Amino acid sequence: MLLTIGTGLLLILCAPARAEFSYVYPVSGCKTTFPWYHHDYPAADIKARMGCAFVAPIGGLVQDVNRKDRWSGKTNLGQDRGGLSVSIIGDDGVRYYGSHLSKVEVGIEPGVRVEAGQKLGEIGRTGSARGIPRPHLHFGISYQTQPGDWEIRRGAIKPWKYLESWKKGENLSPVKEVANAKKRAGK
Ligand SMILES: [Zn+2]
Repeated sequence: MLLTIGTGLLLILCAPARAEFSYVYPVSGCKTTFPWYHHDYPAADIKARMGCAFVAPIGGLVQDVNRKDRWSGKTNLGQDRGGLSVSIIGDDGVRYYGSHLSKVEVGIEPGVRVEAGQKLGEIGRTGSARGIPRPHLHFGISYQTQPGDWEIRRGAIKPWKYLESWKKGENLSPVKEVANAKKRAGK
């Protein structure tokens, strides 16, 4: 309910205590598994068949898209390890990143609006996953930084309990944990 008082002072009454968001498990239509573990920094490696759909876990705006696999075992540069990838800034303000994709969907470009469950790409083995026998989606949850920041976007908090919740059709939100991680990082 909105009330305008006197000289245009706007009061918002009966606002909900906190925003509610709908989350979707980021791999659709396929059997998946992931260990509650990731090397070096927090993220999830979600094992799934080649070509399974990577979908937006929440509505939001596309931030970064990489359609070209530049990774080389010789240089192994951090920014190349993800291979084909997409990151979005969710309506909850959190960044979600998926990489090692075999394909990015047509029309998925920076600034484009996507809805929860919309297909962003397909699971593959690009980047540093090239030699790995089983394809997987590398999935990272992080606070927002500038586009192209591969180091933070690959993962800033442990995503496993959120993935487990969304897989069950529940809506556990990482908003608070991401805000704390940002504070800890001094950002
Ligand atoms: Zn990974």
